[in-house]
Amino acid sequence: MKKILFVSHCILNTSAKVVLYNQQEIDAEENLRKKFMRKAIDSDIQLIQLPCPEFTLYGARRWGHVSNQFDNVFFRTHCRDILTPIIQQLKEYLQNDDMFEVLGFVGVDGSPSCGADYTCYADWYGSFDGRTGLDETLASCKLGKGSGILIQVLKEMLEEEGLSDKVRISSLYAPEPEKCMKMLESI
Ligand code: SF4
Repeated sequence: MKKILFVSHCILNTSAKVVLYNQQEIDAEENLRKKFMRKAIDSDIQLIQLPCPEFTLYGARRWGHVSNQFDNVFFRTHCRDILTPIIQQLKEYLQNDDMFEVLGFVGVDGSPSCGADYTCYADWYGSFDGRTGLDETLASCKLGKGSGILIQVLKEMLEEEGLSDKVRISSLYAPEPEKCMKMLESI
């Protein structure tokens, strides 16, 4: 039986990520990502790549954002649109459960969009021009419990389809970097 796992876009393609500058953070994520990928391949898990909601809305040269900025009807509608074909694929795999075992979804903790258990929060908006206190504004960004907007919309769509209890949602990266590896090891 084929094992199927849906993963956030940048777990397979880091080019979609917002540009990072902290080399320590980049190395830590890359080590974990490769460990995860090797384990998935060695375990013969088929990976389905979710679309990246930020790249498909704002492109490669976007700033980093926080979840509060995406918590609006326009971003949520975009998430719903790009997740619709994913839900259709999920339903087809679940329906053919003699052929496939759906393991669940893996998000990216800390992301304003794809965080599953943790996302980032701040009261960010406005122009940079003529602004004072920018350092304080940037420093006000906090990692906290909760899902990013894409994962929130995904959960809503799973609920609407009556599929919430059929798939689990885990995630990679800080602050619980080994959580997802444990999920893979339990398979
Ligand atoms: S929005 Fe999601 S898929 Fe896109 S770069 Fe961020 S975490 Fe990765």
